[in-house]
Amino acid sequence: KYQRMRKPVWLRRNLPTSPQYEKVRRLIGESSLHTVCQEAKCPNQWECFSNRTATFMILGETCTRGCRFCNVQGGKPLPPDPEEPRRVAEAAKELNLSYVVVTSVTRDDLDDGGASHFAETITALREAIGGVYVEVLIPDFKGDEQALQCVIDAAPDVLNHNIETVPRLYDTVRPQAIYQRSLDVFRYLMTSAPAMPGKSGMMLGLGETDAEVEATLKDLLAAGCSILTLGQYLQPSKDHLPVESYVTPEAFDAWKERALAMGFADVASGPFVRSSYKAKELFSKDGPT
Ligand code: SF4
Ligand code: SF4
Repeated sequence: KYQRMRKPVWLRRNLPTSPQYEKVRRLIGESSLHTVCQEAKCPNQWECFSNRTATFMILGETCTRGCRFCNVQGGKPLPPDPEEPRRVAEAAKELNLSYVVVTSVTRDDLDDGGASHFAETITALREAIGGVYVEVLIPDFKGDEQALQCVIDAAPDVLNHNIETVPRLYDTVRPQAIYQRSLDVFRYLMTSAPAMPGKSGMMLGLGETDAEVEATLKDLLAAGCSILTLGQYLQPSKDHLPVESYVTPEAFDAWKERALAMGFADVASGPFVRSSYKAKELFSKDGPT
């Protein structure tokens, strides 16, 4: 019988605070916008907000897919709000952000999967904040290259798409996704915009083997992905997939060394790492800041 595994000591954290953190937290709380930071109760908020980084979720809170690790609700989403790109840009400006991550639920119901809404948000951010860096964390757009090109044309600084787990676990972890289709996001990027850094992330602790992780990293590199995040999977509720193992901080460090030796330009790896964790620092090694 399944028993909830006790969280190891390295996953308990006392959080410090800072004036910038408090300001961002308060302003986001007062706005009608959604951030992954607050809604996923991300453990890195104090660090990211102090660093003038936050992740906005556009295109609503209802996802057309139902990944078994994810806390976002499924169902029939509302039409995109045409005012949202402008509101995200205004909020990011007011929050004095310098690195903005934009992500969305998967909108398989929309013809372009929401790509034009991503593009408009990137453009609005650039218009509102001089010198802002924008990273997009995109869905697979069902493999629609035109949709992907629409986002690329808006020239984000980093294009992020999470591979999430090893191919053997796709059926249980993200049943509506296809491993090769996610790799194709990077293959397409490599051909269409080779100078734009591709970034991806995996959760560890879902039952994958080390050999499978290594093979997935090789696949990502071969597809053209150059920035990597590795973090611990945490079960959002008892209805989600159980944690199969807690990976030690030392093992995360070893993965970082391994991934860098394999050829990734930069890697964030640790129990609390999420796709947008230290996004600014990861990008600045690779980009012009
Ligand atoms: Fe927000 Fe991402 Fe930082 Fe978490 S890691 S606080 S989601 S920017
Ligand atoms: Fe969550 Fe993304 Fe999966 Fe939707 S597609 S359920 S938002 S991980």
